[in-house]
Amino acid sequence: MKGMMNLPSQRIDGLGRILLPKGLREGLGWECGDVLSIRKEGGKLILQLMIQQPDPQCAYCGRPDRAVSVNGKDICDSCLEGIAEALEVQG
Ligand SMILES: [Zn+2]
Repeated sequence: MKGMMNLPSQRIDGLGRILLPKGLREGLGWECGDVLSIRKEGGKLILQLMIQQPDPQCAYCGRPDRAVSVNGKDICDSCLEGIAEALEVQG
């Protein structure tokens, strides 16, 4: 098999786990939280991306930056400031 000698290898640990090398994950765009399917094909395991974890984004303005999570919603710094100001005006 071509290139076999250069493939990164991983040893299965006592709990049956292996590490997916960072270079492979980055090459595929797989990130923490993504869900993979695992199936056997002949003598091989095939890993396939099933669910990609959405990038965190502000629930108010939709910008891809998150400062805090409240009740499962992410809120960015500037929206937090806006909320704080609104509360001050009301208070
Ligand atoms: Zn925001």
